[in-house]
Amino acid sequence: MKQDLSRRSFLLGTTTLGAAALAAGALSLTPKAYASDDAGDEAAAEGAGSITATYDCDFVVCGSGTAGLCAANRAAELGAKVILVDVNTENGVGGNSRYVENIGNVAMGTDNALENVGAADHYYDGLASYHRYASNAIVTRRYADDGEKVRAWTTDVQGITYNAKGKYDHGENGESGGMVAIMKMYELAQDQGVEFLFDARAYQLLTTDDGAVAGVLCKTRTGDIIQVNAKAVDLCTGGFAANKEMFEHYTNVPYDCVIPRGSMGTQRGDGITMGLEQNALLHHPEAVNYCSWILPGHYNKSALTVCGVNQADEIFLNQDGRRFCDESVIKDWTLSGNIGSQQQHVFAIIDQAFVDKIMTEGVVTRRANYFEPGEPVPSFQEEIDKAIVRDNPRVFKADTIEELGEMLGIDPAALKAEVDKYNGYCDDGYDHDFLKDPELLRKMNTPPYYGFRCLLAFYGTVGGLKVDEYARVIRNDFKPIPGLYAGGSDAGALFGPYYDVSCAPGSTQLWARVSGYWAAEHAVNEYIPTL
Ligand SMILES: Cc1cc2nc3c(=O)[nH]c(=O)nc-3n(C[C@H](O)[C@H](O)[C@H](O)COP(=O)(O)OP(=O)(O)OC[C@H]3O[C@@H](n4cnc5c(N)ncnc54)[C@H](O)[C@@H]3O)c2cc1C
Repeated sequence: MKQDLSRRSFLLGTTTLGAAALAAGALSLTPKAYASDDAGDEAAAEGAGSITATYDCDFVVCGSGTAGLCAANRAAELGAKVILVDVNTENGVGGNSRYVENIGNVAMGTDNALENVGAADHYYDGLASYHRYASNAIVTRRYADDGEKVRAWTTDVQGITYNAKGKYDHGENGESGGMVAIMKMYELAQDQGVEFLFDARAYQLLTTDDGAVAGVLCKTRTGDIIQVNAKAVDLCTGGFAANKEMFEHYTNVPYDCVIPRGSMGTQRGDGITMGLEQNALLHHPEAVNYCSWILPGHYNKSALTVCGVNQADEIFLNQDGRRFCDESVIKDWTLSGNIGSQQQHVFAIIDQAFVDKIMTEGVVTRRANYFEPGEPVPSFQEEIDKAIVRDNPRVFKADTIEELGEMLGIDPAALKAEVDKYNGYCDDGYDHDFLKDPELLRKMNTPPYYGFRCLLAFYGTVGGLKVDEYARVIRNDFKPIPGLYAGGSDAGALFGPYYDVSCAPGSTQLWARVSGYWAAEHAVNEYIPTL
């Protein structure tokens, strides 16, 4: 199968675990390959060889993001002895979940046409229709049914609050909502007696002779190996956004054409790689949570990105100087992600008349809450000029389209021909190629011209190990792997080949919560029945 062949290419080194194997007793500890895109960690792995500490628990969770902390909180609430390991130090608790704003909302957001049905039915139908059954309908159904329950548990047990639109409340001292949520879950876990092992990178599952997962090996930065024995393991390591090799393999998109948002950098695909080593199946690993193209350093809040490269009434071109879509796709992260990820490069081009229009009449395309359509943005010219003075390698100004083409690295004649063609469509009041709304056809013929070389931004990967409606990881014989669960961005089921932000905003976050909750409940009922 595809993943059996492909995973070898992610395995860059092997550990020598002779002593570990001895110490493991009945557990199977055949030396396995170690997935890493980090040479420093690999060196540590090569030097490692003996287990320096062994722990026993009921349930071990790998990763302290939303999925991992929800799993730990729920399992501990049900009485299990829980250990949570994270590759980060304590200062980095929470992973990319620290940056999250929106919990997701079952009662809103879907764009289906059903009327007079309950919120869960409405949500289920919206998601199933959006993904055209490329998502797992059984999982989606239970997710829709349990979504409100888990949101209520988030407040009642974890003490996390959010507004009617699903935005997490900020802290009293202005801390971001995502950070507040993480700290509440972390503090609750400590009160519940969950044991945390930081600087512990899970890298290999332990299995019994009959193939049940029974723990995990972790490695510290200094090369120590920690063995955690458990009745069940939950993989919540956040997907593979920071693993170039995996990203390129599964998405077929060159890593230097995209830019991951979030700065933890620890989402290296370890959970998925460990699952693959147990012959797990994958569910749409190519699915990525894209969030439109941007100028690096100028995210969706800056005038340079929002007004310069995110407007439906400008022109977007690819490496060949060709328009590749109706520019209105920029309104939707999934649409712009789908089409943008097919280009080697995305460029945006505007002219002086466009800049003047932004400064006096504002944008036509709303991005987040930062620039309202119709509100003038008087700083726009200054921001462009500053970027040019500072030699920003992605912002250019020229007197002619041909000169701009040279600067951008696009064939000047091809670019000129494409812009002339577009201006002709503006005269016709009809976009003969991509049928853009005539109201958005704006001629680009007033020098100077400005060109922007963009990167496609993404929040994370959202496909992963195939899981069922209990978050159990499914093996290539379509049976659950005993003792193995996955949650959040390590777990695939809810999404098809792409993300659904326009249909169900916040669904990655709610999925992390629900899948963590499910794993804990199932593991406790199945493997810790005396509780
Ligand atoms: C800037 C930003 C904003 C976002 N905003 C939203 C939003 O508003 N709404 C929304 O739905 N989604 C949002 N997302 C997506 C978000 O990532 C998911 O919603 C969700 O938080 C993912 O949770 P997780 O637990 O799966 O992963 P993470 O939160 O990334 O946690 C993974 C954890 O695993 C740890 N780890 C990694 N490898 C190992 C290993 N080998 N051993 C042990 N630990 C390991 C990491 O250090 C990390 O702590 C946003 C993402 C970003 C980057």
